[in-house]
Amino acid sequence: MGYALANAGAQQGHRVTLISGPTSLDIPINVDFVSVETAREMMEAVKIHIKGTDAAIFAAAVADYRPASFSETKLKKAKESLSLELVQNPDILGSARRQLDYGGVLVGFAAETENLEGNAREKLRQKHCDLIVANDVSRKGVGFDSELNEVLLVYPGHTLPLPKDRKERLAHAILEAVDELRIRKG
Ligand code: C5P
Repeated sequence: MGYALANAGAQQGHRVTLISGPTSLDIPINVDFVSVETAREMMEAVKIHIKGTDAAIFAAAVADYRPASFSETKLKKAKESLSLELVQNPDILGSARRQLDYGGVLVGFAAETENLEGNAREKLRQKHCDLIVANDVSRKGVGFDSELNEVLLVYPGHTLPLPKDRKERLAHAILEAVDELRIRKG
C-alpha cells in the first residue's frame, strides 16, 4: 500500500518522498526514494524528511522488536535450544506528534486480526493520528502480497468503510481523504 500511495501521490503532482525497507517492488517514478534496512534507520530518515511536509503516511509494517544482539558470523549449532532476546524498536509513528513535533496530517495504518475498528481507534488515539487506515490481515486474498485490499478509514469521530478494490484505486481514495484533512487543517 505504501508504494501504491507514493505512486498515486506522484501521479497527482505531489512532491513525494518514499522511505522504504527492502522490497521486491519497482520504485515509483517521480518520487524521492530513501532506502533503509532497519527500524532505527527508518526513524532517522523520517526525522529528516518529515520536516515541512503537509502529510505523512506510515504504511510500513515495522517490526515492534529486534534481536538484542546479532552476529557477523555464522552461529554454530551447540545447544538443544536457542533463545533470542528481543528489544523494542522505536515506535516511529508514535513519535511523530510529540518527539518530532509534527503538525501536518498524520496517517497511520493498522494491521489487525481481530476487533479491527476498535483496535484501530485505540491506535488513532494513542499515536495522535488524524486518520488510521485499518485492514484485517487475517482475511485471505486482500492485504499482504495481494493486488487487492479492503480498508476502513477510522477518524476520531466516525468510520468510513472503503469497498474492496485494487490497491492503486484505494490509494487515490485514501489520498483524497488526506487532502480533505489537509484543507480542514488549513
Ligand atoms: O503494526 P501495527 O499495526 O501496530 O502498526 C501501526 C502503525 O504504526 C503503522 O502505521 C506502522 O507503520 C506504525 N509503526 C511504526 N513503528 C513501529 C511499529 C509500527 O511507525 N515500530
